[in-house]
Amino acid sequence: MLKINKLHKSYKMGDSSLHVLKGIDLHVDKGEMVAIMGSSGSGKSTLLNIIGILDELDSGEYTLDGIEIKDLTEKKAAQYRNKFLGFVFQSFNLINFKNALENVALPLYYQGLKRKERQEKAMFHLEKVGLADWSTHLPNELSGGQKQRVAIARALAAEPKLLLADEPTGALDSATSHEIMQFLQQLNDEGKTILIVTHEEDISLMCKRIVRLKDGVIMEDKKVKQNRLI
Ligand code: ADP
Ligand code: MG
Repeated sequence: MLKINKLHKSYKMGDSSLHVLKGIDLHVDKGEMVAIMGSSGSGKSTLLNIIGILDELDSGEYTLDGIEIKDLTEKKAAQYRNKFLGFVFQSFNLINFKNALENVALPLYYQGLKRKERQEKAMFHLEKVGLADWSTHLPNELSGGQKQRVAIARALAAEPKLLLADEPTGALDSATSHEIMQFLQQLNDEGKTILIVTHEEDISLMCKRIVRLKDGVIMEDKKVKQNRLI
């Protein structure tokens, strides 16, 4: 599904540069549920953004679903993102003036689906996250957990092969966090490949594999017995 070899990434800052990722090797197979752990500033988001084709690597290799991700034009990058990847963020990133259904339907617009198809598909995914009755509500009428469910439905609407989540529970209380993780576990049970960035130990233990980053290198990469509430 995903192969990264000898990845390096630096950020230029005026005359100096900050070496953030220092030779990352990471292979992820279809059906895995991986936690990327590490303290703040260890390079987790940088790595996830490169995997998500939101940012470019400096050196090394990255192939996604057999396709080498290298020197892509903006247009190609957007195409691959739409085709392969779903994103979930700590801050939900919902559009405030659009209701839940419209938020979920938005990525389908970029896939060129007709309005009716978009609405049906969006509704199907809202139902899947248990929010069918909330479809006409605006984000500010939803709880944090509900917002994150809408964001997950939106990420799933385009049927991505890989779901990328950057601190998806970072803004949620612990009961709601576990609920969201349970839902991600169910998705993974159905075969979805999921990568979750987190700095919370209990969240990582709900995944099947933990990759630990420290100062831009992988310190540890181990399979774990997945913690489940159900
Ligand atoms: P994490 O997600 O693990 O907290 P990040 O990947 O966000 O870490 O950041 C790693 C390091 O890179 C940090 O020191 C951060 O300040 C720096 N950094 C992140 N993004 C940028 C950027 N766009 N420009 C310059 N420095 C950045
Ligand atoms: Mg981060």
